[in-house]
Amino acid sequence: MKIIDVRACQPATPDSPPDWRTSLGQILVAVETDQGMIGYGVGGGGLAAVHVVRTVLRDLLLGRDPSSVEQLWQEMYRATLPFGRKGVALMALSGVDLALWDLRGKAAGEPIAGLLGGEVGGPIPTYTTVWGPIEEIAHEELNAVKLHLGRFDPQADNDAIIARVADARDRLGPDCQLMVDAFMNWDVETALRIADKLVPLGVAWLEEPLLPDDLQGYAQLVGQCPIPIAGGEHEFTAAAFAELIDRRLHHVLQPDVCWCGGLTELVKIYEMANKAGLRVCPHRGSEIWALHAIAALDRQPLAESGRPWMNWVGGQPKIVAGLIQLGDAPGFGVEIDESKL
Ligand SMILES: [Mg+2]
Repeated sequence: MKIIDVRACQPATPDSPPDWRTSLGQILVAVETDQGMIGYGVGGGGLAAVHVVRTVLRDLLLGRDPSSVEQLWQEMYRATLPFGRKGVALMALSGVDLALWDLRGKAAGEPIAGLLGGEVGGPIPTYTTVWGPIEEIAHEELNAVKLHLGRFDPQADNDAIIARVADARDRLGPDCQLMVDAFMNWDVETALRIADKLVPLGVAWLEEPLLPDDLQGYAQLVGQCPIPIAGGEHEFTAAAFAELIDRRLHHVLQPDVCWCGGLTELVKIYEMANKAGLRVCPHRGSEIWALHAIAALDRQPLAESGRPWMNWVGGQPKIVAGLIQLGDAPGFGVEIDESKL
């Protein structure tokens, strides 16, 4: 089998937020073979990533056998190194990697979860990430909720942060798992001060309190913070995760399979984390691209709610009463109508 075309575009998402998630939003990658098979993947990075796919990565892939995914990953990583390593180039590479995995699954007639040595299995528990008022979701059947605290100034809004978490705990009841996401806005001192006040509210993890490059800060925090530390959605490649894992800088690792280098890297991250006894909770894990890995490799599955505006990905299972059920179609099981994008 040979690759005869590699396509990428950024489909319109009218309901996406008016920020980088729109301007540099998710891209669709299609890898077509001479046997008429098309693999689909989703990456990030908007038109900048589309350009990377259409130039360097397409040049590299045309005429190649798509089945040696890991070998092609290494070549794509090297080809993008001078301008890549992290960020947009890896987001582009992620989309291509997922499309190659989709082809691998379709060629084998197996869902990706099966290729990973697992099975599609039963319903997977999910958690819902909340940006707005908790009232909007408090009526739903939820086992787990994460509060996004990105808009709060950790100094000026200290009391407002605690009040928001206390209010959520009150409305959700004692049995609902509750997590908080600081979106890289705090420092070590702030994180410790706020975490102390969150302990009585039963917070399961504190996500991204510090900048992703503040590894010293994380080393300090992870030893002192009374709440488990989560992070990794803004980290790239298994090599970078290896340091987070070896140094035990996070209790919960949250790679984004559409950004961090694709499934090739997510599989390595799961292997390392499972060996180290650390938990993996992929960013946007209920989106179909990470869901197969969760079904096959995760010891404590909890899939994060996805982006509601990504409605051009057909075949994405829906969350029902806090659970999500993967289908058994070959590959990722997505249905894409390129003519409509
Ligand atoms: Mg987050």
